[in-house]
Amino acid sequence: MSKGNIGVTSDNIFPVIKKFLYSDHEIFLRELISNAVDATQKLKTLSSVGEVKGDLGDLRVRVSINKAKKTLTVSDHGIGMTAEEVDKYINQIAFSGAEEFVNKYKDRTEAIIGHFGLGFYSAFMVSKKVEIFSLSYQEDAKAVHWSCEGDPEYTMEETIKAERGTDIVLHIDDEFSQYLEDATIEGLLKKYCKFLPVEIAFGKKKEWKDGKEVELDEENIINDINPAWTRKPADLKDEDYDKFYHELYPMQMDEPLFHIHLNVDYPFNLTGILYFPKIKSNLDVHRNKIQLYCNQVYVTDEVENIVPEYLTLLHGVIDSPDIPLNVSRSYLQSDNNVKKISGYITKKVADKLAEMFKNDRENFVSKWDDIKMFIQFGMLTDEKFYEKAKDFALLKNLNGDYFTLKEYKDKVRENQVDKDGNMVILYTQDADANYTYIERAKAKGYDVLLMNGELDVHTMSQAEQRSMTETDGHADQKLRFVRVDSDTIENLIKKEETAKDNYSDEQKEGLRKAFEGMLPSSEDKLRYFVTCEPAASDALPVFLTQNEFMRRMKEMAAHQQGMSFYGQMPDQYNLVINTAHPLIQELVSKMTSEEVQEEVEKKAEKEGEAPTKETVIKTVYKLTDEDEKLHQLIDIALLASGQLKGEALAKFVNRSVELLTQPYIPA
Ligand code: ADP
Repeated sequence: MSKGNIGVTSDNIFPVIKKFLYSDHEIFLRELISNAVDATQKLKTLSSVGEVKGDLGDLRVRVSINKAKKTLTVSDHGIGMTAEEVDKYINQIAFSGAEEFVNKYKDRTEAIIGHFGLGFYSAFMVSKKVEIFSLSYQEDAKAVHWSCEGDPEYTMEETIKAERGTDIVLHIDDEFSQYLEDATIEGLLKKYCKFLPVEIAFGKKKEWKDGKEVELDEENIINDINPAWTRKPADLKDEDYDKFYHELYPMQMDEPLFHIHLNVDYPFNLTGILYFPKIKSNLDVHRNKIQLYCNQVYVTDEVENIVPEYLTLLHGVIDSPDIPLNVSRSYLQSDNNVKKISGYITKKVADKLAEMFKNDRENFVSKWDDIKMFIQFGMLTDEKFYEKAKDFALLKNLNGDYFTLKEYKDKVRENQVDKDGNMVILYTQDADANYTYIERAKAKGYDVLLMNGELDVHTMSQAEQRSMTETDGHADQKLRFVRVDSDTIENLIKKEETAKDNYSDEQKEGLRKAFEGMLPSSEDKLRYFVTCEPAASDALPVFLTQNEFMRRMKEMAAHQQGMSFYGQMPDQYNLVINTAHPLIQELVSKMTSEEVQEEVEKKAEKEGEAPTKETVIKTVYKLTDEDEKLHQLIDIALLASGQLKGEALAKFVNRSVELLTQPYIPA
């Protein structure tokens, strides 16, 4: 038996291991199993080059728990270690850089977490004692037993071991007794080892029989040693990809929309499969994440800096030995390989989408509503992706037809260019709510898009901005998106011959004041700004519009930090009095009628003052008793925009009934 001190220069590495790796101590299992798998793979390599002769026999890695002895054992039949090798690889741990690493990062826990290579010593995170029993594959090798109790002292002696390979025995600390529970270990194995290239067995398979769980003879194999991403795309059918998707996310019921198989070996090595999932709600978005593997060993599902942000919403796996795992996140961003990987993924995804669009547009269109969020997010955040995606990103109109922006511009070019040469694109976010406005637009032969997606407002702003500079060979390249209810349709797409009304400013001011006076509260007066517009004789006599710019700013503020100024503004609307409407014209003619004028003069005489606008208006309403009608008109405007609710709605209904029940008096 030999005794010695583990070859680290710092006094004691163990407290550091325990303390700084505490939050992620479960990775010990991944590390030990990775070593077992490596040892097995090395043996296979040696055998393939003829350095190991004969049948390699059973190569399964086994994990077992002994509750009585409070041990957890990982056994392999790999190359094993001689005493010299244990001394070199285990005792001189500086070889694998652990000490240096821990010293360097001991103030930065997050950098230590997820690090590969601390390896074997991570066993001490959860054990009070660790033993190694190993028999090397080499001829005449003697088995070795190494033991260490979590301090720099170890013992090493010759032992007897019948089978080639290594058993690592952990005497689990009382504090970590959860690692002696089958369920915990099985959970960890499923998390970290599900796709390792060597079979990992844990206990026996179980089956439900007559309402009881019974153990079968067969071993319980945790992993799929040939996961889909390691196979050739040519060997896989769509069903295989779908099957793998469910292996990856057992709780996910939906099928993915489609997949992209990644495979590159130069200038970096990367394989993987990305899936476009069906996203039903925002809640789903971050439930299943892309998993990062390193040679089939699970590393993390936090891929933020490796995959472009908009693609982190995808599902699937990425496997690359070229992603540095032992560095902090901020470093990752500046790493050249990582940048290249991110660029490669962007290109692959864009190419796949472009190919689908080109070869099977119908299929692409059928998926558009589900994938649109990814694509818009990508176009908004990644210039390279934008460049490719602009040719397959789609717009959908109210007929359910889909167009690329270029196609859509060609469609509306004839009819929807205003007198200043801007192309005006009309949209709605809710076809029911905007019904009356949409009808007016359609009556003019205009097309209306449905823009009810979460990122549509941003996408429209982007298209507008880009249209300022991106020449497309047409004079009307500049785009303006306007919601159908943001102004009168005549103003939204202003043509050369804009209608004018024949009223004086005085008359219009009179009308404005009259309607304003009918708004119930002072709060309403802030909310609704009364204006006069000669819209059209067949439009509503009074209606609401909402300024496109202000509304859009508010909507964008809802998604973005630093725009809270807009977010806090109250919703404001224009209450438009349509001076082209016969009802309004009638009102104006009453204001200027002789009858009214006389009445006004009489009043002025009595009060000894010149008549003011207000007196004129007041007189009009007294004479004609039109108050009710004005109220009714305003309520109709609110109703048409879905803003008449509660008490105001009830009052409107009652007033309508009253108006209908007034006795008919023949002239
Ligand atoms: P790393 O795996 O990063 O090199 P480790 O501390 O985990 O660091 O292991 C150090 C070395 O010990 C390994 O490189 C390997 O040579 C040897 N080793 C560890 N576990 C085993 C095993 N189960 N079978 C054979 N060799 C092993």
